Amino acid sequence: MTVQDVKSFAAGRWVGSDAGARDIRSAVTGEVIARAGNAALDVEAMLDHAHKTGGPALCALTFHQRAKMLKALALHLGQHKQRLYDISFATGATQRDHLIDIDGGIGTMFVFASKGRREMPDAQVYLDGEVEQLSRNGTFVGQHICTPLQGVAVHINAFNFPVWGMLEKLAPTLLAGMPAIVKPATASCYVTELAVRIMLESRILPDGALQLVSGGLGDMLDRLTNQDVVSFTGSAETALKLRSAPHLLRNSIRFVAEQDSLNASILGPDAGPGTPEFDLFIKEVTREMTTKAGQKCTAIRRIIAPEKHVTAAIETLRASLAKVTIGDPKAETTRMGALVSTEQRDDVLQKAQTIGQEAERVFGDPARFEVHGADAEAGAFVPPMLFHCANPDAARHVHEVEAFGPVATIMPYTDLDHAIALANKGQGSLVASIITHDGDVARQVALGAGAYHGRLYFNNRDSMGESTGHGSPLPHMVHGGPGRAGGSEELGGVRGVLHYMQRTAIQGSPDILTAIGGKWVPGAQEITHADHPFTREFHDLQLGETLHTKPRGITLDDIEHFAEFTGDTFYAHMDDAAARRNPFFPGRVAHGYLLLSFAAGLFVQPDEGPVLANTGLDNLRFMKPVEAGDSIKVRLTVKHKTPRNDEYGEVRWHVTLTNQNDDLVAEYELLTMNAYQVP
Ligand code: NAP
Repeated sequence: MTVQDVKSFAAGRWVGSDAGARDIRSAVTGEVIARAGNAALDVEAMLDHAHKTGGPALCALTFHQRAKMLKALALHLGQHKQRLYDISFATGATQRDHLIDIDGGIGTMFVFASKGRREMPDAQVYLDGEVEQLSRNGTFVGQHICTPLQGVAVHINAFNFPVWGMLEKLAPTLLAGMPAIVKPATASCYVTELAVRIMLESRILPDGALQLVSGGLGDMLDRLTNQDVVSFTGSAETALKLRSAPHLLRNSIRFVAEQDSLNASILGPDAGPGTPEFDLFIKEVTREMTTKAGQKCTAIRRIIAPEKHVTAAIETLRASLAKVTIGDPKAETTRMGALVSTEQRDDVLQKAQTIGQEAERVFGDPARFEVHGADAEAGAFVPPMLFHCANPDAARHVHEVEAFGPVATIMPYTDLDHAIALANKGQGSLVASIITHDGDVARQVALGAGAYHGRLYFNNRDSMGESTGHGSPLPHMVHGGPGRAGGSEELGGVRGVLHYMQRTAIQGSPDILTAIGGKWVPGAQEITHADHPFTREFHDLQLGETLHTKPRGITLDDIEHFAEFTGDTFYAHMDDAAARRNPFFPGRVAHGYLLLSFAAGLFVQPDEGPVLANTGLDNLRFMKPVEAGDSIKVRLTVKHKTPRNDEYGEVRWHVTLTNQNDDLVAEYELLTMNAYQVP
């Protein structure tokens, strides 16, 4: 059998391992299958390449261009995923595990591609929050903006998800406009190497955007600058060692840490045997213990059940775990493959022994279990192991020791406060789940445990059909947790992108803020054009282009007609005395919706043209009532433009309605889809 030389991709070329490289063994057969590591890797050249070539190339693109790049990469990876499946079995992972790692990683990239297009502008500056009014007359205003850090993101990943682990960090990094140097864990780096190869073969990425270190990083971390980011996933021990390096501390280099955690799952007090929730709980726990052979940072390690249901839960879990077939990950009948290495197996067995000092093993004997289609001794196999800790308040190890394998401990609780206290004893976790059909239980847990957990996963009979699983971090939701879990966040949609950008407070005049942010700020210059803005194609419209309409008077007849026509005969529009008793109205007033309709009547240009549709209204506020005898006029200004596809883009218009005294009556943002070209 040939031993693969796992290469690094440094400063634009592939570099093989050297004499000091580490052997990597198959998790299933124990044979050496690959070697990785090169002590002579020129890390300074890699940093230089990222800083001088990759970064500027990415920064030159808009968020939408980067998002399109991510989509193309995800599609390309999808076309080649069989190659990744084939090579991944050697890590001990089953086909089901591949779906989480490989398909899950590609899916994460798709989500970031889509969020980049939908939630970020087609520009290089991301606006964070609204404009802040800093002066009485609005000539000096404030806004927070985010721009990409001008360094490189060094991604250090754990062994368990060689593809997802890389892509979940890479997608937000590239979307932010930062290049990355990826350093996978050596034990499974051959899978990451192939994924990087596939991405580079596509030639979608600009030069220098993605580099790879297979093996050790050398002294790279000591050469980073304040513009670089380290994003680490792995054990708490390694995180502590790396993040406390004086060079990182001295230069305030961002360090994102995703560590291990002792995640809990609580069986609600309402979810006893015989309820759909009880069955669901057993299913979730079994799955979380055995998927990826329990090598998941989010796996359930502590099972917290009402005292009176613990025996039933143990019995049912034993029956469920007994059905899990262990063996050759390639076999379709295998439910659980091997741990990544025999070293990992030894570590898990040793930690299980420590847990065993405080808890009784009630399922799974590592000395006696069946392995199908593989050599139990040569491969890194262990059975699922369930422990029962009868006195969890006095115990320490069960709340502290992470056996990174199919190992979990069940423990009793007396009441809900006790369950919450036990869940929080993990000192900060990535996720806790609560299986309950009772909203009060859910609310109490959210209040009592929210501060200790990065994610709370509630599931019951209503959501179980579509729920995504306790252990699945989703690109839309934040992943990370306080304390023991590392005190950082990743993912969470655009939030995850901002970890690779600097937030800067900008203060200045409305024109200055408009020029920087690419979004018209009220008070900035208005542009008038001879043609009505509704007749102008998307790309011709300029920010600040404004239409002022003529006024229109409002009569009592208008109000009555609208009331009768729509059925909206609310007393404030119909009964003068009743309206006067209301603290908001001077007497009968016009319907707000009538004013909006009149506004549209005032500003639209009726002919067929570039405006294709009105797709919504945002931030509508009625500021001052309008009575019969008043008049209104409209100011319509192009605030922001976002291309949506090859044919049209969204125009956000800032609209104000003022009365005959120029008092603001209503304000909103109108959204339209505008064609690039009128046929
Ligand atoms: P690990 O031993 O802490 O290693 C993590 C990464 O750090 C690997 O890439 C490793 O590279 C690297 N590393 C170790 N020492 C280093 C050093 N001195 N300088 C630079 N890099 C160094 O963790 P692991 O065994 O791979 O992964 C299992 C752990 O990760 C578990 O504790 C699990 O809970 C945690 N995890 C957390 C998450 C999360 O999202 N929170 C996700 C997955 C896993 P080498 O392999 O080359 O040593």
